Amino acid sequence: MKVIWAPWRIRYIESPKPTGCFLCEAIRSEDDARHYVVYRGNKCFIIMNLFPYNPGHLMIAPYRHLPSLEDLSDEELYDLIKLTKFSLKILKKAFNPHGFNIGVNIDSVAGAGIEDHVHVHVVPRWSGDTNFMPLLADVKVIPQALEETYKKLKKALEEI
Ligand SMILES: [Zn+2]
Repeated sequence: MKVIWAPWRIRYIESPKPTGCFLCEAIRSEDDARHYVVYRGNKCFIIMNLFPYNPGHLMIAPYRHLPSLEDLSDEELYDLIKLTKFSLKILKKAFNPHGFNIGVNIDSVAGAGIEDHVHVHVVPRWSGDTNFMPLLADVKVIPQALEETYKKLKKALEEI
C-alpha cells in the first residue's frame, strides 16, 4: 500500500476518537470532498450516500447527533426540509431524474443504517431503474463512480 503524506490528518489523529458515526465524522472534518459533503447549511448538511440505492442518493442530516425527528428544534426541522428541497434542485440540475423517493428511517427495525443520527434520504429515480435497483442495493460502489457523482453535484450546485 502506498503511504500518503497527509499532514492535515494530524488534526484527526489528535482529536478524540470518533464515536463511530460517519455523519459526525464528516461534520467535524474540514475535507468535504473526502467525506462527500455536498453542502453545509445553518443547522443541517447534505452528504452523499456511499452505498446508494441509485446514483446521486443524498442524505440530509442535522449537525447534532440526535436519533429522531422529535428531538430536533424547529430551526433544525426547518433547515432539514429546506435542504431536502435544495437537494431536489441540485439533483434535477445534475442528473435530470424522472422522480424521487424521500424518506426517513427511524430505529433499526425500520431499516435505519445509522440508528442514532437521524437523516432524510433523497433517492433520484428514473423510469425502469427498479429493475437493477435491488442488485445495486448491497453492492459496494466503486470510488470512481462516487467521485464522478460528487463532481457533477458540486458543479450543479455552483450553477444554481
Ligand atoms: Zn452522529
